[in-house]
Amino acid sequence: MLFKLLLLGLVIWGVYHFFIKQKPIEHKDKEADVMVECDKCGTYVSNKEAIIKDGKYYCSKKCAGVEQ
Ligand SMILES: [Zn+2]
Repeated sequence: MLFKLLLLGLVIWGVYHFFIKQKPIEHKDKEADVMVECDKCGTYVSNKEAIIKDGKYYCSKKCAGVEQ
Protein backbone atom coordinates (compact mmCIF):
# COMPACT_ATOMS: atom_id res chain seq x y z
CA MET A 1 0.00 0.00 0.00
CA LEU A 2 2.79 2.41 0.91
CA PHE A 3 4.63 1.47 -2.29
CA LYS A 4 1.51 2.34 -4.31
CA LEU A 5 1.29 5.73 -2.62
CA LEU A 6 4.96 6.41 -3.37
CA LEU A 7 4.43 5.36 -6.98
CA LEU A 8 1.37 7.61 -7.24
CA GLY A 9 3.38 10.47 -5.76
CA LEU A 10 6.16 9.86 -8.26
CA VAL A 11 3.68 9.89 -11.16
CA ILE A 12 2.10 13.15 -9.94
CA TRP A 13 5.59 14.65 -9.49
CA GLY A 14 6.54 13.53 -13.00
CA VAL A 15 3.39 14.98 -14.58
CA TYR A 16 3.80 18.20 -12.58
CA HIS A 17 7.37 18.70 -13.74
CA PHE A 18 6.42 17.75 -17.30
CA PHE A 19 3.91 20.60 -17.44
CA ILE A 20 6.30 23.04 -15.73
CA LYS A 21 8.87 22.24 -18.42
CA GLN A 22 6.26 22.61 -21.17
CA LYS A 23 5.10 26.06 -20.07
CA PRO A 24 8.11 28.11 -21.27
CA ILE A 25 7.88 26.42 -24.68
CA GLU A 26 4.20 27.36 -25.01
CA HIS A 27 5.03 30.91 -24.00
CA LYS A 28 7.78 31.05 -26.62
CA ASP A 29 5.33 29.87 -29.30
CA LYS A 30 2.93 32.69 -28.49
CA GLU A 31 5.67 35.25 -29.05
CA ALA A 32 6.63 33.68 -32.37
CA ASP A 33 5.23 34.91 -35.64
CA VAL A 34 1.61 34.01 -36.25
CA MET A 35 0.49 33.59 -39.82
CA VAL A 36 -2.63 35.56 -40.62
CA GLU A 37 -4.71 35.48 -43.78
CA CYS A 38 -5.06 38.60 -45.92
CA ASP A 39 -8.73 39.59 -45.92
CA LYS A 40 -8.60 40.54 -49.60
CA CYS A 41 -6.41 38.04 -51.49
CA GLY A 42 -6.07 35.21 -48.94
CA THR A 43 -2.28 35.30 -48.82
CA TYR A 44 -0.78 34.22 -45.51
CA VAL A 45 1.51 36.78 -43.96
CA SER A 46 3.29 37.11 -40.62
CA ASN A 47 1.27 39.13 -38.11
CA LYS A 48 4.32 41.34 -37.63
CA GLU A 49 4.40 42.22 -41.33
CA ALA A 50 0.65 42.36 -41.84
CA ILE A 51 -1.18 45.64 -42.16
CA ILE A 52 -4.13 45.91 -39.78
CA LYS A 53 -7.00 48.04 -40.95
CA ASP A 54 -10.43 48.11 -39.32
CA GLY A 55 -9.49 45.01 -37.31
CA LYS A 56 -8.66 42.97 -40.43
CA TYR A 57 -5.31 41.77 -41.66
CA TYR A 58 -3.92 42.58 -45.09
CA CYS A 59 -0.72 41.36 -46.78
CA SER A 60 0.13 44.71 -48.36
CA LYS A 61 -0.92 48.36 -48.54
CA LYS A 62 -2.48 47.61 -51.89
CA CYS A 63 -4.79 44.99 -50.39
CA ALA A 64 -5.55 47.23 -47.41
CA GLY A 65 -6.56 49.99 -49.79
CA VAL A 66 -4.14 52.43 -48.21
CA GLU A 67 -2.87 55.19 -50.49
CA GLN A 68 0.91 55.08 -50.90
ZN1 LIG B 1 -3.50 40.56 -49.92
